[in-house]
Amino acid sequence: MAGLSAAYDLTKAGHKVVLFDGSGEVGGLASGFKVDQWEWTLERFYHHWFASDQHVLRLASELNCAQQILFRRPDTMMYHQGTFYPLDSPMSALLFPGLGWGINKLRFGITTLYLRFAKDWHSLEKISAADWMKHWAGTDVYRAIWEPLLKAKFGRYSDDIPMSWLWARIHTRTAQLGTFQGGFQMFLNLLADKVHEQGGEIHLNTRVRHIAPTTDSKLRLKVNDEELIFDQCIATCSPKELLQITPTIPTQYASKVNNLQSIGAIVLVLALKKRLTNHYWFNLPANAGFPFLALVEHTNFVSPSCFGDEHIIYCGQYLETNHRKFLMTSEEITRQYLPALTRFNQNFDESWINKSWVFRSPYAQPVPSINLSSKIPELQTPIKGLWLASMSQVYPWDRGTNFAIELGRRVASHLLKP
Ligand SMILES: Cc1cc2nc3c(=O)[nH]c(=O)nc-3n(C[C@H](O)[C@H](O)[C@H](O)COP(=O)(O)OP(=O)(O)OC[C@H]3O[C@@H](n4cnc5c(N)ncnc54)[C@H](O)[C@@H]3O)c2cc1C
Repeated sequence: MAGLSAAYDLTKAGHKVVLFDGSGEVGGLASGFKVDQWEWTLERFYHHWFASDQHVLRLASELNCAQQILFRRPDTMMYHQGTFYPLDSPMSALLFPGLGWGINKLRFGITTLYLRFAKDWHSLEKISAADWMKHWAGTDVYRAIWEPLLKAKFGRYSDDIPMSWLWARIHTRTAQLGTFQGGFQMFLNLLADKVHEQGGEIHLNTRVRHIAPTTDSKLRLKVNDEELIFDQCIATCSPKELLQITPTIPTQYASKVNNLQSIGAIVLVLALKKRLTNHYWFNLPANAGFPFLALVEHTNFVSPSCFGDEHIIYCGQYLETNHRKFLMTSEEITRQYLPALTRFNQNFDESWINKSWVFRSPYAQPVPSINLSSKIPELQTPIKGLWLASMSQVYPWDRGTNFAIELGRRVASHLLKP
């Protein structure tokens, strides 16, 4: 999304742009796939937009497709002592038994309201979300609501996530969620078509293997087995991959990159004959014994008729890349995950499954650290003409396609400066 957004603005301004993507379709983490009987594409990793995703909305209206963004209000459930409860509105928070029936509800309500309206995140990046929440909302509220969320997302890093990150989520996110008619891949394809129309080239299944400066201040890229010369290059891969393919990056910049942390993700996708639950999203605390930490029934957000009347389930988890699940086969992961589905619907059995897929990404979620704003590598690398625009440079916001668009367009605007 970042690379395509940059390419869109650069080709629009009349520049010659070549976009290389190592995979078989545009879209990276937000890309989708489709089987014959489906009308819509399905994102490999569950995706939705928020009504506050202004960069998506602006780009969509420039592409004349804003009317194809569909907003709905699907529900979110939270697990508490063997039962799932709604937890996606002030009223549901009031009724959520995990918060008890006294002062905790008040403290949860007041702190959430404060974070929704507070504008200054800079002071919040100096303290961890765990410490801030324990102090202001109380340890019980932290343990019931925020700790499970932070642990599901960041695992062993969860105690050290800056409060600015949690502020950003609470501050901007909406209960209204959006998707694109036909799936995110349709939006990405429209963007890619526009890049083509404006004279850009897109080469798929084409990896950039090496980047080096030339003596006349240009950049030599080794692309598959070819060597090509460019004036400027925007890398939208992970920062650590940029270091691998650009060994001459000066050490000061390289050490900033090396200090960044990130985690991967593994998602099992199932196409079922029957509906599993009546809800869209389930947050599952790490200590509740599920082999995954989020269950998303996509077809309680988008109609099953878009998927040939199949019911689409994601079972997802963020994991460090040295976790053994990254070495397990798709069959092993499926076997390990399936028994847990009876905790959502006791009638579930394997005969409900039409098809299944396992998707993995080693670079799925940057892990923010305290005072990150002063540690993020600059977009412009010390090598002339070489830029980095990665998820790790999105901050204080949680990375997402909205911010990938903003980042791609921001880096393009730097290139366009005289
Ligand atoms: C489980 C999960 C759930 C998510 N949910 C949401 C959501 O609900 N809403 C939302 O907006 N966002 C969501 N996101 C985040 C969103 O997908 C990303 O923030 C966004 O897609 C990042 O875009 P990007 O262009 O920065 O990077 P990527 O999408 O990672 O794109 C990088 C591209 O670079 C290519 N590449 C890498 N190295 C090379 C190389 N050497 N040569 C050539 N090509 C290369 C890759 O193939 C890829 O296409 C989710 C992500 C995950 C993993």
